[in-house]
Amino acid sequence: MEVKFYNSYTNKKEIFKPLNPENVKIYSCGPTVYNYAHIGNFRSFIFSDVLRRSLKLLGYKVNHTMNITDIDDKIINASISEKISIEEFTSKWTKVFFDDIETLNIEKVEQYPKATEYIDEMTIFIDKLKENNLVYEKDGSIYYSIKAYENYGKLSKIDVSGMKAGARYDSDEYTKEDARDFVLWKQTKLDGEKFWDTKHGKGRPGWHLECSAMIRKIYSSGIDIHTGGIDLLFPHHENEIAQTCGAYPHEHFVNMWMHCEHLLVEKQKMSKSLGNFHTLRSLVEKNIKPSSIRFLLLSSHYRTKLNFTFQSLDDAEKSVSKIQTTLDRILTCLNYDLSNLKDSGKMEESIQNFLESLADDLNTPKAIGIVFDQLKTINFRLDQGNTDKSELNEYLFFFQKINLLFGFLSFEKAKEEILDDEVLKLIEERNTAKKEKNFALSDKIRKDLLEKGIILEDSQAGVKWKRK
Ligand code: AMP
Ligand code: ZN
Repeated sequence: MEVKFYNSYTNKKEIFKPLNPENVKIYSCGPTVYNYAHIGNFRSFIFSDVLRRSLKLLGYKVNHTMNITDIDDKIINASISEKISIEEFTSKWTKVFFDDIETLNIEKVEQYPKATEYIDEMTIFIDKLKENNLVYEKDGSIYYSIKAYENYGKLSKIDVSGMKAGARYDSDEYTKEDARDFVLWKQTKLDGEKFWDTKHGKGRPGWHLECSAMIRKIYSSGIDIHTGGIDLLFPHHENEIAQTCGAYPHEHFVNMWMHCEHLLVEKQKMSKSLGNFHTLRSLVEKNIKPSSIRFLLLSSHYRTKLNFTFQSLDDAEKSVSKIQTTLDRILTCLNYDLSNLKDSGKMEESIQNFLESLADDLNTPKAIGIVFDQLKTINFRLDQGNTDKSELNEYLFFFQKINLLFGFLSFEKAKEEILDDEVLKLIEERNTAKKEKNFALSDKIRKDLLEKGIILEDSQAGVKWKRK
C-alpha cells in the first residue's frame, strides 16, 4: 500500500520511503517537565502516537524517540523558588507526564532521553559548529550565527535577509516571528542556578541543541520522520536543521518533517501563557473519560485546527460509547471467548479502507467514518439475531484491528457484569445451603450480598435479585 505523508519541508504530500522499513526512525519533540501538560500538548503527543500506531498497522517496525526537556529557564526558576534541586523537581513532573500518557493510552516509545544526560554530546556539537565557523562568543555565552548558515529558513520559508546581524536571543521562549541568533551555550547568571563546567565555560545548553544532539547520538545516520507541534516548526526545528546540517553538512538528517496543528480555545491557541488551558487531570476530575479526550484529539485531522469545547467532548463520549456498545454486543454473544478470533477475509475490504485512510496522510476522520459505517452493518446483523460464531469472530477481528489505533476499547466484561456473575454464583451457593438446611450459611450469603448492594427476594419462581 502506498503511504503518503505531508512533508512540511517541501509543503507537499510525499510517498513515504523509509531508509529501512524494518526500523523506521521517528523523533518527536517531547514535553518540558515543569508542570501538568495541557490537552493542547497532548494533541501533539496523540498525533505522534497516531503516526506510530498507523505505521505499525501498515506493517512497519518503528524505533521512536521522544525527548524530555529537563532543563530550561522555567525549570530553573521553579526549582529555585521551591527550594529543591532540579533533579527532584523534574523527576516529579516526569512521573506526572508518564502517568498522563498512560491515562490517554499513548503507547510508550522506545527511548525517552533527557536533556541533562546529553551534555557531552552537546559539547561536541558546539565544537563542530565552531570548526565550521558558525558560532561566536559574547559575554561568556555561545551563539549560532544564522547569517553564516546559507540554508537558514528553508523549512519555515522565512526570509532572514533583512535581519539585523548579531541580534541575539538567549531565552528558552521564542515567538514565531523571531529570526535571531540563538544561544547554544548559556553562561550561568543566577546564584544557585544549575550549571555544567565544560570547555565552553560554566553554563547550560540552549533549548534547541538537545534535539540535534540526541538524534545524532541515538540515530547516527539520521531519521525518517521528525514530528512536533506546528509552533515548533519555527524557530525550534529551523534551528535544529541549522545545528545538525551546519555541524555535519554531508550527512543525512531528516527525511520528513510532520507538524500537528493547534488545539484552540475560542480561536486562540490553548496555552499556559494565555491561561485558556485544561490539564488532563482537571478534565478527569470533572468526570470526563480519558477515552473521550483521546477520541476527540485523534478524530480530527492532525493538520487542521481543532477548537476545544465541552460539547465536543460530549460528542466524543457518545462516539466512543457507540463503538464500545457494539463491541459489547458481539462479546456477549460470544460469551467473552476471544480464543477463536479469525480472519477469513470477510472484513478485508473494511480493514483495507481503514488502513488506506491512515496511509493517506493519517486521515483519521475518514478512518473513523469507515468504522461507523461498519458499525451500522454489524448492528443490523446482530438485530437480525442469526449471526453464527464464525461471523461474530470476524467482527471481533475487525474491532481488534481498529483498536490498534484507538487503544481505548475494552475486550473484557465491564465490572458490573463480573459482579452479576458473582451474584449468580452466590445465589446458587445459597440455594444449596438452604437445601442442606444450612440456614446460618444461607443467611450469611444474603447479608453479604446486601452489604454489596444486592437485595435478594425469594419468590415461588425462585430467587430474584436487584441492586439497592
Ligand atoms: P512544551 O511542553 O511546551 O515543550 O510542548 C510540548 C508540545 O506541545 C510541543 O510539540 C508543542 O508544539 C505542543 N503544543 C503546545 N500547545 C499546543 C496546542 N495548543 N495545540 C497543539 N499542540 C500544542
Ligand atoms: Zn525538539
